[in-house]
Amino acid sequence: MTFMEILKQNYRKISQNIINAAFRSGRNPADIRLLAVSKTVDIETVAQAYQLGIKDFGENRAQQFVEKQQSLPEARWHFIGHLQTNKIKDVLGKTFLIHSLDRWRLAEEINKAGQAMDQITEVLLQVNISGEEQKYGLAPELVQSFLADSEELKMIKIKGFMTMAPLDAAPEEVRSIFKEMRAIRQSMLKQDFKHCDLEYLSMGMSQDYEIAVEEGANIIRIGSSLFNA
Ligand SMILES: *Cc1c(COP(=O)(O)O)cnc(C)c1O
Repeated sequence: MTFMEILKQNYRKISQNIINAAFRSGRNPADIRLLAVSKTVDIETVAQAYQLGIKDFGENRAQQFVEKQQSLPEARWHFIGHLQTNKIKDVLGKTFLIHSLDRWRLAEEINKAGQAMDQITEVLLQVNISGEEQKYGLAPELVQSFLADSEELKMIKIKGFMTMAPLDAAPEEVRSIFKEMRAIRQSMLKQDFKHCDLEYLSMGMSQDYEIAVEEGANIIRIGSSLFNA
């Protein structure tokens, strides 16, 4: 099989799994967006995936983000990694969504850079539900005040939440993490903040996207199970 055929087969299988998981949980599969995490593949492979109909791609390093975004600007490019403040200006204006707003300082700096460029940036708040020390993200109990305080940052629009389960977590632990993320979103929606619409729930990777779909994810971030031969 050519790589294109393998890619097509992987994409079909993942799409079918998303449909099945959506039906199991009474959801519309069309509400779930597959984001292809292209950090391990080259731009030719990204172009092949785009041809198959995948329109959303994610990168976790600023330099690779910029290179790939420039070579396929018609795709929607998501930034999904820890973003250093000195890299903000490189990616600003090129992101469909930054999934990894993980600290107040970063929000302030994106806002400031946005003012200079007259650019509103749409972001997701990354939440560290599991409390793993080596993980970035906001503690769940800080989410509400972060959202409230973000009203002053006019060049940032918080569009929802992103979380990750620990790689070695058992399925039931993964599920409880995703459930908690969803519950936080529900409770923040009730606050009815006017400055953020909290539309997106970005959770689930190759290992756990079916659980994530069952628990309400509307963006899933898939790398290895799509691109690995
Ligand atoms: C690499 C990465 C993914 C994709 O992981 P896979 O297990 O390869 O699907 C998703 N989200 C983030 C933040 C990543 O860095």
